[in-house]
Amino acid sequence: MSDEFQTVIQGLNERISVAKQHIVHCRWGDSAQEFRQLIADVAKCVPPSKEDQDGKAMLLKMLEEQLKMAQANDRLETEIAEQFKRQTGSPEPPADPDVWSKPSPPLQATKTTKKAGGRRREISVNSVSSINPTASAATNPHDEKDANQSQGILPPNEAGETFDASLFDANIIRAIRETMVLHTENKMSLNDVIGMGNVKQVLREAITLPFLAPDFFKGLRSPWKAMCLAGPPGNGKTLIAKAIASESACTFFAICSTDLCSKWRGDSEKLVRVLFQLARFYAPSIIFIDEIDTITGSRGNNGEHEASRRVKTELLWQMDGPTSDERRTFVLAATNLPWEIDEAMRRRFEKRIFVPLPDLEARKTLMMTSMDGTPLSDEIDYDDLAARTEGFSGADLVSLCRTAAYNVLRRFDTTELRGSELKAAIESLQREPVQIIDFEAALEAISPSVDADRVKTIKDWCDTFGAV
Ligand code: ATP
Ligand code: MG
Repeated sequence: MSDEFQTVIQGLNERISVAKQHIVHCRWGDSAQEFRQLIADVAKCVPPSKEDQDGKAMLLKMLEEQLKMAQANDRLETEIAEQFKRQTGSPEPPADPDVWSKPSPPLQATKTTKKAGGRRREISVNSVSSINPTASAATNPHDEKDANQSQGILPPNEAGETFDASLFDANIIRAIRETMVLHTENKMSLNDVIGMGNVKQVLREAITLPFLAPDFFKGLRSPWKAMCLAGPPGNGKTLIAKAIASESACTFFAICSTDLCSKWRGDSEKLVRVLFQLARFYAPSIIFIDEIDTITGSRGNNGEHEASRRVKTELLWQMDGPTSDERRTFVLAATNLPWEIDEAMRRRFEKRIFVPLPDLEARKTLMMTSMDGTPLSDEIDYDDLAARTEGFSGADLVSLCRTAAYNVLRRFDTTELRGSELKAAIESLQREPVQIIDFEAALEAISPSVDADRVKTIKDWCDTFGAV
């Protein structure tokens, strides 16, 4: 290849890697657009020699293949999303909007690599394959379509194996895929969760330490399989799940049980079964079931829906299911209503831990952390604020700090200002420290959201049935 043409190619390399980055992040549409533009630009260039003409032809062929793949995946994703929406009435995955970021979209083009220093699975685009899976079990056109769809949305596991999704309903696979967290955009760690030392300890014993010293965690000391967190709302139960999803090397499945019951009535037990199969396939895995009480109420209750009984039974069965050191799964559940949990289910949770309201020290730390990065007057006394916020949940304290920070704006009358004046005035307030009067006004406005009697009832349940 001549030096001249080589320079042209080098200029394109950066754009090619941008297009490939789009693929890594499953932004198929953006990637297709970039490849289309690249093809147009390469087509325009005139190679000076025969050798360069061959180089150009090869490059064009490669770009066209990539474009075809990106377009196919773009179509596939749209099709699956539409089909899913038609069947469920909602394209949204089960998620707590406050806490979970939108899960990563379906994946194609995958090869697994191990990240230095950690076992988290990363998806790379080095081998961009066609969307045709090797779904051997599909026998009729309908099944084949399902199989293709299912296969296309699941990445390989750590060993590079592909889950044979051809035997399952594409929508179930799709629904579970949407609960799977392979990458989290939020880089959180357990240290970001204030307090909850006993919960963190169990998570370490169940998840982190067995990787470091597998021989210690054998026999009687085999790692914990399931933990249930019980506590009043807004105190970090979902947050700690999010932190462990981000920090650990496990594949994470976040299931909201209300969605499981409502969206998937009739199919829910199948979903539970496939969920555990996938969790074992992608092991080590964590299955997080939020609001577990909604599906695990006492079986045989009057008025209990047959479908919900089947889901519970399947869940019990799966939690007792086969497990091995290689195929380890950990079930983490959360509830505000622990007494609603079926006795049989309760036994499956080896650890049942009370998540209390933050104590004095935790309240202080939580407020300090929340205010981090916001200009603050020296007069703020966190010890005093912590003493005055007994009964506040973690979420209440975050809300208090946000309100105090907003109150800076309310101290200044900007109602008469317009346009650039208003913009300049608000921008100058960025540097205005939050003062004690802002906190005083916030304390006036915000009361604890949690009922003390409710906290006591949860605590009493944990005192009776807890296992720390
Ligand atoms: P619910 O029972 O209503 O689902 P929850 O216990 O799951 O509540 P989260 O959603 O985890 O509560 O917490 C809500 C928000 O409150 C978090 O996003 C975070 O900002 C704050 N928060 C609560 N507890 C803590 C904590 N221990 N450490 C740090 N932040 C916290
Ligand atoms: Mg929650």
